[in-house]
Amino acid sequence: MEEFDFENRIVSPTEIMGDNGDDNPLRPRRLADYIGQEKAKQNLAVFMEAAKRRNECLDHVLLYGPPGLGKTTLSGIIANEMGVNMRITSGPAIEKPGDLAAMLTNLNEGDVLFIDEIHRISRAVEEVLYPAMEDFSIDIITGKGQMATAYHLPLPHFTLVGATTRAGQLTAPLRDRFGVSLRLELYTPEELAMIVNRSASILNIPIEQDGALEIASRSRGTPRIANRILKRVRDFAEVMSNGVITLQTAQTALERLEIDELGLDANDRRMLRAIVNFYKGGPVGLETLAAAIGEEAITIEDVIEPYLMQIGFLSRTPRGRCITKAGCLHLGLSLPDEQDSQLKFD
Ligand code: ADP
Repeated sequence: MEEFDFENRIVSPTEIMGDNGDDNPLRPRRLADYIGQEKAKQNLAVFMEAAKRRNECLDHVLLYGPPGLGKTTLSGIIANEMGVNMRITSGPAIEKPGDLAAMLTNLNEGDVLFIDEIHRISRAVEEVLYPAMEDFSIDIITGKGQMATAYHLPLPHFTLVGATTRAGQLTAPLRDRFGVSLRLELYTPEELAMIVNRSASILNIPIEQDGALEIASRSRGTPRIANRILKRVRDFAEVMSNGVITLQTAQTALERLEIDELGLDANDRRMLRAIVNFYKGGPVGLETLAAAIGEEAITIEDVIEPYLMQIGFLSRTPRGRCITKAGCLHLGLSLPDEQDSQLKFD
């Protein structure tokens, strides 16, 4: 079996090497520059304006949706628009309640604390988070046994922005403590084309409109992927067409990168093929599929599946994953057992 490299593949919605991390010049800094997500943006604008008028900090915000859609970016925008600083951490990085306490006591009045992957914080840490979110205070116990002393420590007011790919995994008490909950959706090709154009102008890359749209429509609805593909296509454009990204250069580059016209790469195609070849099109359980292609179930669920389901190539049933007729057609495959497939597709 061929080796999968889901970690560093160009269509991965999670960050890979070369994506620039936090000092990314492509991150919009103001709400007006944040393209798409109109519903979330409109609501947020109202909540921020109201909080500013009352001279309060914004209520805690939960952002959820697949990776690469702009949760970190939006959190930075909130801090910027509210005129405060943002501290960034993540669920798995906060190992002990003391780590969180140290972070909270170091905040300035009004600051934004961004916790990525908030569904992964431990129970013990979550216990500290409750009073911090609700009453802006924490209880710290020092010493052991009879020498133990409890301190009630007031904290500065702050806005917690929690980001998660899996809102369903948050405990109900934690979810209830967010005043604002915003779901980010995959972007349309038109919105992504605007993002590609904006990024190209920041990076000084000349690009034609149909070139931008071509990159956009192969980016799986995800800005992070669109920006990454743009940078790779630029290399081809420099060699092929004097640096200008045209439809032709975009198509050739994407073909060479093995990203097809719907944004599927070799790994997606191999996973779909495995469902057809090894499991007669499905249903196949997530764990079984994960073992068959040598990938973690969680990566399949969070990173690979959302887009394949969105474009109707994969369906989830109680008995497992099935490839759809559209998926087979795209790959030029027919299902081994047509009768079986009739049942599934009807
Ligand atoms: P997430 O935190 O959801 O994984 P990020 O906020 O890190 O995603 O966004 C990934 C990249 O995509 C950012 O570097 C940013 O440049 C770009 N991006 C995301 N959303 C938008 C948007 N609405 N408009 C323009 N660029 C965006």
